[in-house]
Amino acid sequence: MTSSLHDDGLMEHVPCNLCGATEYTLRFPDTRMHSVNGSEQWTAFRCTHPGYGIHPPIVACSRCGHIYTNPRPRYDVIQHNYEIVEDPLYLQERGARKITFRHHLKNFQRYTGPADGRRLLDVGAYIGVFVETAIEAGWDAWGLEPSLWAVNYATEHGLSVVQGTLEDARFPPESFDALTMWDVIEHLADPLGQLEHCYRLLKPGGWIAVHTMDIESLFARLMGSRWPWLMEMHIHYFSRRTLGEVLEKAGFRVVRIRPEGRFLRLRYLTTRLRPYSAFLADVVDGLGRVTGLDKVPLPVNFGDLVTAYARRPD
Ligand SMILES: [Zn+2]
Repeated sequence: MTSSLHDDGLMEHVPCNLCGATEYTLRFPDTRMHSVNGSEQWTAFRCTHPGYGIHPPIVACSRCGHIYTNPRPRYDVIQHNYEIVEDPLYLQERGARKITFRHHLKNFQRYTGPADGRRLLDVGAYIGVFVETAIEAGWDAWGLEPSLWAVNYATEHGLSVVQGTLEDARFPPESFDALTMWDVIEHLADPLGQLEHCYRLLKPGGWIAVHTMDIESLFARLMGSRWPWLMEMHIHYFSRRTLGEVLEKAGFRVVRIRPEGRFLRLRYLTTRLRPYSAFLADVVDGLGRVTGLDKVPLPVNFGDLVTAYARRPD
């Protein structure tokens, strides 16, 4: 455990990212005492990591109600982890993610209008599945991604995915017509600062789509501490209200925030179910094989994932 995230030296106390307040109340206590040993620490940062229910303390800001992890891994630790992350399991889910992203893009284009070769940047592009989807739809699509492994994979497949972060990427201001962040904002140390960078990169009148979990959704409230998105790699838990607030604070005009689900293969769902009930996971796996449903991506929407559509004013 000598170099694990459980050591105090790798954790830091942070103020609320939305309002700067330092007072908070505990929402979900630290569950890492039940965690695996330190040798597996990095796996918590993989997109498909099944470390459900294992997280540092999750608190609610006393002033604005924003929910976030506090204390949380130090900024440089988070950054380093996302640079070195490798996730071969994600590749297996490529097909299902592609279908999900086609739906996400179709809905986003209701606001942006058709692509017409305009420039789009996917922030946190990972292996470039959304970038590829946007290119197929006619966008001049780019990606930005900290993980070297993911960037190498994307560039080997001919996609323009740049390694780095919004702070160090050398895109000129107002160089994109549309920006997207799919399942990214909950991982960021400083969502407000990153959205301000996004604002600068967007042309006036340009659109941004931000997709994340909604901790105040009915499903999340019913599940309580068993809501599967409470996990170490998530450090900000937005609601529709706080997601709208952080976007507005960065300068955007929020036009709509609505639930938007995803497509998943049954086998992927059962790996997520397994920590709760191995028996149930085996039963569902078996049913999937018998019915052939294990090969078909299925639509999943519990109402606890939302997309915000917002615009940089003209
Ligand atoms: Zn606050």
